[in-house]
Amino acid sequence: MIPYVRDMEFEYGTAQQVSPLIRRVIANNPGPFTFRGTGTYIIGRGEVAVIDPGPDLPEHLDAILAAIAGETVKAILVTHNHADHSPLARPLADRTGAVTYGCPIAVPPGAAEVKMDDDHDEGFVADITVCAGGKIEGPGWTFEAIPTPGHTSNHICYALAQENALFSGDHIMGWSTTVIVPPDGDMGDYYESLRTISNRGFSTLWPTHGPPITEPAPFIDAYLAHRLDRERQILEQLTQGRERIADMVPIMYAAVDARLHPAAAQSVLAHMLHLVKSGQVATDDSAPGLKSAYRLV
Ligand SMILES: [Zn+2]
Repeated sequence: MIPYVRDMEFEYGTAQQVSPLIRRVIANNPGPFTFRGTGTYIIGRGEVAVIDPGPDLPEHLDAILAAIAGETVKAILVTHNHADHSPLARPLADRTGAVTYGCPIAVPPGAAEVKMDDDHDEGFVADITVCAGGKIEGPGWTFEAIPTPGHTSNHICYALAQENALFSGDHIMGWSTTVIVPPDGDMGDYYESLRTISNRGFSTLWPTHGPPITEPAPFIDAYLAHRLDRERQILEQLTQGRERIADMVPIMYAAVDARLHPAAAQSVLAHMLHLVKSGQVATDDSAPGLKSAYRLV
């Protein structure tokens, strides 16, 4: 079982000091993928960094600007191009003169365009690219950008040295597992990125949605175990003769809100593609997808 953390006390649009260096303002965009809403983090005092400015909601931009009144925004750090994370980055940069950091979505070799999910924010391109990592410094704070592909190909986590803390975006969330939508999302990359973070021994993880994870090691272990269990379930479905994802999801996700079943199907596909890549599962489809038939090798 994943030791989920979901309790949080907050008021929408109000900055809350959540650690010595960290303030958080939550946007009023709750939902089945965003939990209570997007948590925008403000780090430092006087000259600050802002992480994941959030969705295109004017009142959230106003709330961030109110929280930093009299201060300077030096850096805006974006974890990835999803509509609940990056759209306010440019407007906030325009209003504050801050430099934006993130990793642009790459077009895969041979493809004409980037194939993204519906929640993708194509509009945001960072001023400074940190796809290969990098350091971002201000008075009293030092960040290291850590590439963590999986949820999206361009996902970046940001480590705050002064608190041995990590802003984990949607890579690791306390309230839920993360959604992996192929082809931009990749399960094999995701496993690697979980191990990358696990090996770093952070004291606290601050996801963009929900409360912090204060015991990262057992949490990440449980996260990985959960994924391996899903793989085992898929192999079992194939053993029982179900060869299509649409027939597996209602059984595997019987306990989950049906509104989330389309996302669950994407997650099963992400697992399936990983199983195909690792040689455990085969398909005759040259472009394996949601509608393909799969079989055990
Ligand atoms: Zn996301």
